[in-house]
Amino acid sequence: MTSSTKSPESASAKAGSPRTYHNYINGKWVKAETGETFASYNPANLEEIIGYFASSTPNDVKAAVDAAQNALKMWRSTPAPARADIILKAAYLLESRKEEIATTMVREMGKVLKEARGDVQEAIDMAKYMAGEGRRLMGQTVPSEMPNKFAMAVRQPIGVVGLITPWNFPVAIPSWKIFPALVAGNTVVFKPATDTPLCALMLVEVLIEAGLPAGVINFVTGMGAKVGMSIVDDPRVKAISLTGSTEVGRRVAGRCGELMKKVSCELGGKNAICVMPDADIELAVEGAVWGAFGTAGQRCTAASRLIVHSDVYKKFTDAFVARTKELKLGFGLDQDVTVGPVVNKSQLESINEYVQIGKKEGAKLLCGGNIVTEGDFKKGCFHEPTVFGDVKPTMRIAQEEIFGPVTAIIKVDSFEEAIEVANGTEFGLSLSMYTRDVHQAFKAIEELESGIVYINAPTIGAEIQLPFGGVKQTGNGHREAGTTAVEQFTEWKAVYIDYSGQLQKAQIDNHPTKKK
Ligand code: NAD
Repeated sequence: MTSSTKSPESASAKAGSPRTYHNYINGKWVKAETGETFASYNPANLEEIIGYFASSTPNDVKAAVDAAQNALKMWRSTPAPARADIILKAAYLLESRKEEIATTMVREMGKVLKEARGDVQEAIDMAKYMAGEGRRLMGQTVPSEMPNKFAMAVRQPIGVVGLITPWNFPVAIPSWKIFPALVAGNTVVFKPATDTPLCALMLVEVLIEAGLPAGVINFVTGMGAKVGMSIVDDPRVKAISLTGSTEVGRRVAGRCGELMKKVSCELGGKNAICVMPDADIELAVEGAVWGAFGTAGQRCTAASRLIVHSDVYKKFTDAFVARTKELKLGFGLDQDVTVGPVVNKSQLESINEYVQIGKKEGAKLLCGGNIVTEGDFKKGCFHEPTVFGDVKPTMRIAQEEIFGPVTAIIKVDSFEEAIEVANGTEFGLSLSMYTRDVHQAFKAIEELESGIVYINAPTIGAEIQLPFGGVKQTGNGHREAGTTAVEQFTEWKAVYIDYSGQLQKAQIDNHPTKKK
């Protein structure tokens, strides 16, 4: 890596020596106009500051949009295969920095190292996939109803796009947006979550080193309501892609609605694994442990409900609680740790509040339930993996997104009831069914109301070559990844070429009534 591509004060930050990092606007690393910064902390040890980042203002956003707007003409007229070459190079650079970025991710947001590597790998996969898109960007050709007339539709870039991302997949989620946006010919203003600016900055460094011209990507850190909303409000930003909470999504989509701006939102979930009596119970238990407690339950697809048939409720619950108790909580860089901290203090408190709500609602606490404060744990944001049994589908812990290591077991008496309970929330991201009965498996695929369905696998683990997103309050009808990834970043242009040399009137000249 050459020194010019890295943030001047970057390099993998070392414990105890926090550095100050800047925005990246128009090909330069620049301070916020006020010079103010905010800190990013290690959630395993809040005494460790990962770095200081620009606390940007609406004027910083304006400068970023200026740069993106100025670079647009050049970038959209760069042939898509040439744009894609840069994305492919980014894939290889990400591979070469995978360990460094993954290690930073563990320190910045807490997920364990294996999962952090997976997060970076997802971005590598996405980069390779989107690099291929540079030689596709498929349009449509269709027959015209007129003779000597050609009809086609081509994809065009939208323009400047604003990308706003959460902290739970700090490299993968930005990659789902940045790579398709760029390959399609858009220029970008990117605002990462305030909890994970360093991971996001490293992804930007990779793109710069891969050869992305100045102004094509602009990186602005800071508070959501101020920086995010300024991006949304700028009339030159033609589309917004947001992944985050349903609450923020509603606000952003509402504003985009007023501005008649294209917006895609990937939001919260209340995912469930259903376990039928004929299922391989051991497999279901393993899947449920991974689905519920992977990333300390902080995945939009986390299995926060386990809907279990009464015939196997006791067998499943006993085994599940026993396996949960074996999980090892701790710092994600320690080899034997399986569950890391949650992202910050307020998330920790919110999770514990839900535990208290669950107890008050009458759910049975089967294990966990506490914030961990012994020894070094008290410096961080650690919550015990927590299991509630005898949960009623209407309880708040069975309805609302908790986004932490807490799951609720709900007993049902039939396949039909399992489907009804699984569908009985406002969300619709990821639902799963464990069964060995092919009829039930296909019935579940048909009837589960979610953007993603798993059979005999947990609710987490999506691959980038299929569409990702949800129904109901989980989103506003868009999908990321897969062949659908470019949809939110392109406009269709229908083109008719008439080479007949005469005026031909569609729907009129060729209509049978005209011939009479
Ligand atoms: P969040 O909604 O608090 O923040 C998301 C992003 O929006 C951040 O960058 C934040 O700074 C910004 N933001 C906040 N307020 C804003 C405003 N008023 N205007 C514009 N931008 C604003 O979410 P989070 O806590 O970072 O992430 C967790 C949430 O994300 C969970 O609800 C989770 O389910 C969801 N999520 C969804 C998916 C999905 O694909 N469906 C994937 C991952 C996470």
